[in-house]
Amino acid sequence: MVAKARPMLNGASQPYPSTLHLLKPEERNAEHRNVIEMALRDKHAPIPDCFRRAYLDYQYYQQRHFLIQANYIAQLVFLLYYFADMLVIADMQLYSAGFRLGLAFFVMSACFYLIRVRKNIQIADMVLPIGTVLSTALWVYMLLQSNSPWSDNYLYTSVIFVLIANICIQVSFKPAIYCSIFICMIAGFGALMLMSAPQAIIFALTLGPICLFSLYISWNNTLNGRRTFLRTLLDEWYLNNLNDLAHTDELTQLYNRRQFVYAAEHKIHEWPTPAGTCLLMFDVDHFKKINDQHGHDIGDQVLQIIANTARKEMRHHDILARFGGEEFIALIPETQIDDCLMIAERIRLSISQAQLYLKPDVKLKFTVSVGVAELRSPEQSLDELIKQADIALYQAKANGRNCIVRYDVSMTEKPDQTHSFPNPEAIQRIKALKSAKHNFELADTK
Ligand code: GH3
Ligand code: MG
Ligand code: MG
Repeated sequence: MVAKARPMLNGASQPYPSTLHLLKPEERNAEHRNVIEMALRDKHAPIPDCFRRAYLDYQYYQQRHFLIQANYIAQLVFLLYYFADMLVIADMQLYSAGFRLGLAFFVMSACFYLIRVRKNIQIADMVLPIGTVLSTALWVYMLLQSNSPWSDNYLYTSVIFVLIANICIQVSFKPAIYCSIFICMIAGFGALMLMSAPQAIIFALTLGPICLFSLYISWNNTLNGRRTFLRTLLDEWYLNNLNDLAHTDELTQLYNRRQFVYAAEHKIHEWPTPAGTCLLMFDVDHFKKINDQHGHDIGDQVLQIIANTARKEMRHHDILARFGGEEFIALIPETQIDDCLMIAERIRLSISQAQLYLKPDVKLKFTVSVGVAELRSPEQSLDELIKQADIALYQAKANGRNCIVRYDVSMTEKPDQTHSFPNPEAIQRIKALKSAKHNFELADTK
C-alpha cells in the first residue's frame, strides 16, 4: 500500500509508466493542495518550485513525441528550401547545400540525444529555436555574399524562421523571447545591408507583427501546458486522497473491511494458489469496560496502539485490516497453520505487553483474543474462512480471553472441544523461533 515514488527521468532507462505518479506520498497533504490551487488561480499559472521536477517529467511524457516530430519536419522543410536557394541565389548553391545539411544533421542529432538519451525536455525544447537562430545567421551571411539581384526580397523569408522558432516551444516561454530578439536583430542587420532605408522600414513592419503573433502563440502554448499540468496534479491529489479514504480506516490507518475483502479475495484466488493460507481474527477483550471507565478517546488510542503493534508483527504481504469496531482481521498467505499460530501468539503477546499511560504513573493494559482458521482448499470461499475464524474467536472468548483458538471442524458441532493456545509446548517453540531469528519479514502492512 506504499505509494510509489515519482520516477526520475534523467538517466532513467525505463520507459515512463502508463500512469503518472506526479505527487510524492509526502506531497499528498493539504498544504501542497493549497499550493497547487493558488498556482491555478494565478492567471500566469506559475509552476511552484516544489513541483518543478514533476512539471519537467510531465512535459517530457506529454511533449517528447511532438518535439521530435516538429524538429525532424522543420529540418526537412529547411533542407527543401535548398531548391529555392538554387533558383534565387544560384551562386551560393554549394554553400547552401553544405550549411543546410550540416545544420540539419546537428539539430536532429542534438534533438535525438536530448530526448532519447538524456531525457532532458527543457534543453530539447530549445534546440529548434537555437538551431533557427544559427540558420538565420548563416542564411543572412549567404545573402550578403551573394551577387543575386533577388537577395533583398529573399530576406523576407525571415518570417519563416521566426515562426518556426516560436510556435514549437512548449515548456518555457523565455527562450522564445530571446530567440525572437536574436532573429530580428540578424534579419534587421541583413535588411540594413541589403535594402534602402524605406525598404528596411517596410521589412521591419512586416516582420514585427509576425514575430509578436508567433510569440503570443508560444506564450499561449506554455500557459496551457502549465495549466494542464497543475490540473492533472490537482486531479491526482484528489484521486489519491479519495482512494485512501475509500480504502483506509481513518482511526487506525489500516485497510477497512471493504478493502480487506477485495485484497483477500484476490489473494486466496490467485494463481498459483499460495501454499498455505491462514486467517486471524482478533477482538479487544472487555473493550466496552475500557470505554466506560476511561472514555471513548482512550478507547480510540487503545485501538491505534493495537493496530500499530499488530502491524509491526506482520510481513509486507500479509493483509491486515480493521474489520469492525474493536475487531481486527489478517490474512496470512504462504504460511502453514503452525507458523500462523506462532504469528498469532506474537501478536497476542505484544499487545498484552503494550501499555497506554493515562497519567505519568497510571498505565492501562489491554489484551485481545484471537481466532485462527486455515484455508483448506482453493475452492473455499473467503466468507466461509472468516466465519470459521469468527467461531474460533468466539471460543477464545469463552475460554477466558487473552488466548488463541484454532478452528476445528468439530467446533461447529461440539463447541466445547477446542485446541486452546498457547500451551507450554507452543511457548517453547515460540522462544526457540525468536532466538533463532526466524526470517519473517516484518513490515508495515499499511
Ligand atoms: P468482549 O471481550 O466480549 O469482546 O467484550 P467487549 O466489551 O470488548 O465487547 P462489546 O461488543 O460488548 O463492546 C465493544 C465496544 O466497542 C462497544 C463499542 O462502543 C466499542 N467501540 C466500537 N467501535 C469503537 C471505536 O471506534 N472507538 C471506541 N472508543 N469504541 C468503539
Ligand atoms: Mg471486544
Ligand atoms: Mg467485538
